[in-house]
Amino acid sequence: MEKRDYLKEIDGVIEEADPADYDKAVLILPDQINLNVWPEWIHDEKPLLILIESYPVHRTLPYHKKRLTYLLSSLRHFAVECSSNGFPVHYQSTDQHYDKVLKDILDGNKELALSFMNPSEWDSRERLQELRKKYENRVTKISNTFFFADPDDWKQKIEPGYRMEYFYRDMRKKTGYLMNGDEPEGGEWNYDENNRESLPSGYDIPEPTRFQPDDITLEVMEMVDEKFPDHFGKTDHFYYATSRKQAMELLDEFIDNRLDDFGPYEDAMASDEPLLFHSGLSPYMNNGLLLPWEICERAIEAYRENDEIPINSVEGLVRQILGWREFVHIYYEAMMPEVRDTNFMNFNESLPKMYWSGETRMHCMKQSLKPVIEQGYSHHIQRLMVLSNFSNLTKTDPRELNEWFRFAYVDAHEWVVLPNVLGMSTFADGGVLASKPYVSSGNYINKMSDYCKSCEYSISKKTGEDACPFNYLYWNFVDEQRDAFEESGRNSFMVNMYEKKSEENKEAIRNSTENFLEQLKRYKNS
Ligand SMILES: Cc1cc2nc3c(=O)[nH]c(=O)nc-3n(C[C@H](O)[C@H](O)[C@H](O)COP(=O)(O)OP(=O)(O)OC[C@H]3O[C@@H](n4cnc5c(N)ncnc54)[C@H](O)[C@@H]3O)c2cc1C
Ligand code: SF4
Repeated sequence: MEKRDYLKEIDGVIEEADPADYDKAVLILPDQINLNVWPEWIHDEKPLLILIESYPVHRTLPYHKKRLTYLLSSLRHFAVECSSNGFPVHYQSTDQHYDKVLKDILDGNKELALSFMNPSEWDSRERLQELRKKYENRVTKISNTFFFADPDDWKQKIEPGYRMEYFYRDMRKKTGYLMNGDEPEGGEWNYDENNRESLPSGYDIPEPTRFQPDDITLEVMEMVDEKFPDHFGKTDHFYYATSRKQAMELLDEFIDNRLDDFGPYEDAMASDEPLLFHSGLSPYMNNGLLLPWEICERAIEAYRENDEIPINSVEGLVRQILGWREFVHIYYEAMMPEVRDTNFMNFNESLPKMYWSGETRMHCMKQSLKPVIEQGYSHHIQRLMVLSNFSNLTKTDPRELNEWFRFAYVDAHEWVVLPNVLGMSTFADGGVLASKPYVSSGNYINKMSDYCKSCEYSISKKTGEDACPFNYLYWNFVDEQRDAFEESGRNSFMVNMYEKKSEENKEAIRNSTENFLEQLKRYKNS
């Protein structure tokens, strides 16, 4: 067969299967690439696997070029692996929407029955639902089994006041993870209090493995540069794992080298060290190269075997994966599609330009944006307490921030970004997911990082040109958004603190805020 443009590497190893020759096919989406969770009959019968790179899907937002490279290269490696395991594979890289490709395939072979796994993303689900309607009993939906919890069992509980903690405890009991009978291991459900240390200076941070792109990845990088030239970021210096084998290596490395310090330094930030002791495994869980229970179970096993891994590290990790990751997935299912348009505080400013350029005099913002622009990654506290915090304090439309998080990160998928942005970090849903907006002054950043030491602004100054902008923006926010801080109909502690400030001080806060916001370059108006 003639090798197709930008598919030469996989065309050299996969014998392309023609859908006209089959009576059973399975569509595998780019975020479902692990056959271990697919039904048994697929392993037994080896139907035709259909894998599609559909450019219109990847153009709905200016997705980071590394995100595209990661997803498409992983899909190609998966195709090669399936083919070498005896599956017939039909692979397309196309300018058409994938449902159009599927319609053509189904129209071209009236004997063909197609199965697909329920997509995690709303838009894909809508498209495949339409396909099912059109082809009725020829198209079958399989339940999505990439998560611990079936959202249908939980989503009716999602409402203000139902917090992640309740769900998490139920899931601990259900899975038996870190349980002694009905009691949590160590006596506590939550060891977060031990997980708020800042990093001592000179602390040894292990160097994580970076993979060199192989020929398949290099070909994808070339294609991404050509077909998605205006997208965010660059393909250069791509180092992500793109196969299950490589992802498993990264899991081993995290367990061996970083899990022990994961808990204590979970909230810490350090200049030029975006990963610290985090796992960096979210991209692999989010497309299926790793399964969430594999990570939890490896961590629990390591904790049992190694006295140096403290309970707060392993519980902290299990809480993030079994708790937060599953909870936001259920929230998405419960709240879509209306939640897409929520904007509780009615902020309507465009995203500051620095989210694209990384150019700013604020060292914390520079440090949090640089790894995103370069590699599509920053850790949770940078996402929450720096990037989202600043967006809130500068009255940015949360939907713009949500969009940015969706295209700028390698691990981004709508089901996980939207709850974290519109639910957690911006309070746009008005308090369904979180009890208060996640905002803070510069004090929090100073306590948890070394950023302020190298900043052009002064953390100790509260107002004025060279004062840390987080300081006055925060108090201005508390003043203007006091309803969001209300506790049981009463002013919160922070609102009362603001009220105790002198009138002169309040005016200085307002003036500094006004000056700063006037000069802040926004993406669409500068
Ligand atoms: C504004 C904002 C945007 C986010 N966008 C994404 C995103 O696009 N994709 C994504 O996977 N996560 C997202 N998160 C959640 C979290 O920040 C990332 O999962 C985490 O930083 C990924 O890095 P890591 O693998 O090193 O995580 P670790 O710190 O090593 O944590 C382990 C795992 O726990 C899970 N996890 C931790 N916190 C959360 C959470 N709040 N929601 C869901 N899963 C969680 C992730 O799967 C992560 O890999 C976002 C959080 C915020 C506040
Ligand atoms: S002084 Fe303020 S702007 Fe500068 S790094 Fe610290 S928190 Fe960020």
